Amino acid sequence: MKTRVYLLYTGGTVGMRPLDPGNPLSPLAPASSQELLERIRGLGSEEGIEWELGTLLDEDGLELPPLDSADLSARHWVLMAEAIERVYTDYDGFVVLHGTDTMAYTASALSFLLANLAKPLVLTGAQRPIFATRTDARQNLINALYVAGYKATGLACVPEVTICFGDALLRGNRTRKVSTTAWQGFASPNYPRLGHLGEQIRLFPDLVRAMPDERAPFYVHRQLEEQVVDLTLFPGMHASQLGSLLEHPELRGVVLRAFGTGNAPGDSELLELIGRAASGPDPKTILTVTQCIEGQVELGLYASSSALLEEGVIGGFDLTPEAALAKLMWILANHDRSEVRTRLMLDQRGEQSYNLYELTYPPAGRKSDPVDLASASAQPAGPVNRERLVRAVLRIHGLGVSDVKRGELFSLRLFVNSSGIKSDTPGDDARCAAEVEALYQGPGATLVVADVTDGVRRLMEEQRPFHLTLTAGRKQFWYRRLELALMVASR
Ligand code: ASP
Repeated sequence: MKTRVYLLYTGGTVGMRPLDPGNPLSPLAPASSQELLERIRGLGSEEGIEWELGTLLDEDGLELPPLDSADLSARHWVLMAEAIERVYTDYDGFVVLHGTDTMAYTASALSFLLANLAKPLVLTGAQRPIFATRTDARQNLINALYVAGYKATGLACVPEVTICFGDALLRGNRTRKVSTTAWQGFASPNYPRLGHLGEQIRLFPDLVRAMPDERAPFYVHRQLEEQVVDLTLFPGMHASQLGSLLEHPELRGVVLRAFGTGNAPGDSELLELIGRAASGPDPKTILTVTQCIEGQVELGLYASSSALLEEGVIGGFDLTPEAALAKLMWILANHDRSEVRTRLMLDQRGEQSYNLYELTYPPAGRKSDPVDLASASAQPAGPVNRERLVRAVLRIHGLGVSDVKRGELFSLRLFVNSSGIKSDTPGDDARCAAEVEALYQGPGATLVVADVTDGVRRLMEEQRPFHLTLTAGRKQFWYRRLELALMVASR
């Protein structure tokens, strides 16, 4: 069987040749698409893959020269998405030849820009040019053509944006460039490979994104917010080093590379600055990722990450910095300000392993009019299955408890989906999800953060609102805000 694949040549080492062909040490410069075409003509034809080579066109339809990927920007990502859109119905799959330096950014951006993608789109490039004798370009390109030309090669369809490099097929928005020299230049630290291309090709369809609903048409987003920055925290970082940047009136979003699980230096000036940026009159959206290669941000796990959370920063779980930047640019440009936070916390294209649902409950009581029991319901914005619930965290802001002194311990009881609770219902009652002990910081200043996963998992009812009841023994209390954060595995 024959299949048609569109090959989009954007530039990169893969298509470069020495400026001075007689000198092996001469710097590399991109070859024309014609030269590349000569070099790869006929590749894949024995397997039944018919491909056509195209180049990027600018906004006026004029051909852009092949570029080093360091020169690409959001504009080029949109041009690439539009190039795919123009030929989408005519081909069974797509290969994008691209420089390795920013390939992970482009793959992430394309995964967000292309909605309801139902065909494979494989990015590839090379550590050494296709014109070199020792090159990985030929192998990478033929592997990418095999995946994109699945109808002829008999492989499973991978209807998502991937990077095919070395012997790995990786989800594009999970990928990072990890080596400037190794043939295996890319890795996907937080998501397994989608395929292994060794002596045999093995794809793992269970890990691949599901085909979009037939009725959902393919379309392209054309907007990305460019007023964003990517900031790395370092030990000893000081507010004065960041002030003018974070207070810039045009800045709309920040990817904050924090330590470990989302920790930041305790410097109060720095935290205040971040807080002012995140919640001021013209708030910036701040999305945190980890500086670690592997693992995730979980804001609220340690005191130093609770501080960021309190300042209104959003936890990006296991997003790569590249995917975080692209997601931020995409969501800021395409969604209403009121939706940005919620959308960022949800997995959109397989880019993160968790969804975060923040259930917000109304305030209860007042200092002058405290309550002995607070009770309310809230519904998560998506399905929460018991076996996918990873963590449930209760956060109570601005708590005051009558007859407790600053520095004293007090305890709260949380009941989930239980009726008939009284202020003196015991903590060991089977309907009690958690008994939380905390140190009293004074009225209004007390923040309670408690892991209530086990109790919530035991008492939650799937597809139903989460009804919470809170008591403080026989004491009276009030609070400004109560949240239940549910971290739910996305697959
Ligand atoms: N500087 C090149 C680029 O990213 C490197 C490469 O392709 O490997 O375009």
